[in-house]
Amino acid sequence: MSSNNSLEALSARVIRSTGAWYEIMDSNLNQYSARLRGKFRQDSKEITNPIAVGDEVLFERNEDGTAQIIEILDRKNFLPRKATHGRRGHQILISNIDYALVVVSITQPQYKTGFIDRFLVSCEAYEIEPIIILNKWDLSEDITTDEIIYHSNHYKQLGYKVFHTSILKPETLEPLVNLITNKVSVFIGPSGVGKTSLLNHIDPSLEEKTSEISGYSKKGKHTTTFAKLLPLPFGGYLADTPGIREFGLYNIEDWELSLYFPEMIEGRTHCKFSTCTHIHEPSCGVIELVDTGLIEPFRYLSYMNIIESLNDR
Ligand code: GDP
Repeated sequence: MSSNNSLEALSARVIRSTGAWYEIMDSNLNQYSARLRGKFRQDSKEITNPIAVGDEVLFERNEDGTAQIIEILDRKNFLPRKATHGRRGHQILISNIDYALVVVSITQPQYKTGFIDRFLVSCEAYEIEPIIILNKWDLSEDITTDEIIYHSNHYKQLGYKVFHTSILKPETLEPLVNLITNKVSVFIGPSGVGKTSLLNHIDPSLEEKTSEISGYSKKGKHTTTFAKLLPLPFGGYLADTPGIREFGLYNIEDWELSLYFPEMIEGRTHCKFSTCTHIHEPSCGVIELVDTGLIEPFRYLSYMNIIESLNDR
């Protein structure tokens, strides 16, 4: 083990940012208000906030009980959003996310694979592991589930984790709790699918701490636009990212999109053109896989819809 003469630096995670001050929390749940040591202020011109919620930092304690951040550890990933107030570049909304969980319901409202696929693409692009939660599974007794099970199995085949949950069946939530224990997770999804209910089952105190679990359903409620991390009682954090209903898909070129569809990676290497978009080009390795049924029509439909939305920007 190496040692040096300076005070031993401690490590913590940034859980909130309020301008010049950062709230940081160490692994023993001690919380400090911290400032960034001056010489770290200059950073990439592209990124407008030098420290983001989610960052792992090294710090030293000050005598007055505050702390000084002396180093920001490398980020494993982050969610960007465009800088506000007409500034150039982008801000980091939140960093070091272990899991992004998309919550949808099998019925009331019925999920759309297009929404799930857009979310998966964003996660692939930002290098965040996505998790699919098909909630309200208790209602499967009232509906035909063949197609749902088909979709669920297909996502699993593609390598994604899929959970079938119901707040009425607590045993279905256990694997989910095990997954997010000691991890940083963010939940997203449309209104009405059960996000608030799920999180209430996971930790009843979360509802009043989160500003906007339920998207736009709590109309009129004042919400802050800053992300924060909420410690979970069993270890780990839940990211509260107000206003994020889905992850944006900017900075992706149309010919890049197929990189984020795992089943297209191999096919795209056989395309005649390196910038093939797999829509209308001749000698396309991806379209060949669609024609032979090796790429699912519902996935290719999502692909085409996303390409179209990229072209509309
Ligand atoms: P949110 O908008 O995603 O936060 O959704 P809510 O948690 O507010 O839930 C919307 C509605 O779905 C409420 O009436 C819940 O009671 C109901 N709900 C949530 N989860 C389940 C579930 O697993 N099964 C059933 N049957 N209803 C659920």
